[in-house]
Amino acid sequence: MPLDFRLDHNDFTLSDECLDAMARVLKKTRVKERGFMLCAESPSAPIYPSSDRIGGANSIKVRDCRGQGRGIVVGAYHTHPDSTCAPSWYDAFALIRRAFGCQRPTLGCRAGTKDKTVRCEAVKETPTLVEVNYFLSKRKGRAGTLATTDPEICAHLTEPIMFPISWKPEPKKTTRETVVDYDRNHSLEELRKMCRDKGVTVSGDKKTLARRLIAV
Ligand SMILES: [Zn+2]
Repeated sequence: MPLDFRLDHNDFTLSDECLDAMARVLKKTRVKERGFMLCAESPSAPIYPSSDRIGGANSIKVRDCRGQGRGIVVGAYHTHPDSTCAPSWYDAFALIRRAFGCQRPTLGCRAGTKDKTVRCEAVKETPTLVEVNYFLSKRKGRAGTLATTDPEICAHLTEPIMFPISWKPEPKKTTRETVVDYDRNHSLEELRKMCRDKGVTVSGDKKTLARRLIAV
C-alpha cells in the first residue's frame, strides 16, 4: 500500500516501490550510510527511488533523478548505521539547501538501524538564499550534533511523520516443504510421539505422520 501523508500544506505519496527500497536499503546498512533520491513526475505525484548510493559512516551524497526517467527531485532518503532516524543538524541543513535548490518544499527522510523507523520532514516554506547562507555560516562545529540542538533550524522543518520500516514477510512455506522439514528434522519416534500428543493415529511412515501433523 502506498503511503499518503501531508506535512503542513504539502502532500506526499511514497509508492510501494519506494517503501520497499527504503526497507531493503536499511536492511543492507552496516557501517556506511546508504540512500537514494526521492523522485516524481510532479511535487505531489507518487514518489519513486533513484539508484542506491553508498556513502561514508556519517555522510552520503545521493544521485539526482536524471536518468531515472522519473522527473524531478522531491526529496532524499538515507540510512543511519548504528543510530536512530533522528535528523542530524547536517540532515536539516541539507534539507533546507535542497529545498532552496529545487525552489519548493522538499522531503527529507531517513531510517536508523537502531529503531528500524523511517522519519520524514519537509521544510515549511521554500527557504531564501539569506536563510541558506545564514545556516551555512552556522554549520561549523555542528558535525555529529542533532538538529534538535538548534531550535532555529528546527523552526524551518515541519512536524515529522514516522513509521516503522516493514520488511516483506517471508513467503509462506508450502505444505510440501513443511513435510520435507518434518522428515528432515525429526526421527520416526519423535513424529510418533508428536502424533500421540496431538491425539492422531501413529501408524505409517515419517511423511505420512508429517502430513497428519500438518493437517491438525
Ligand atoms: Zn543523516
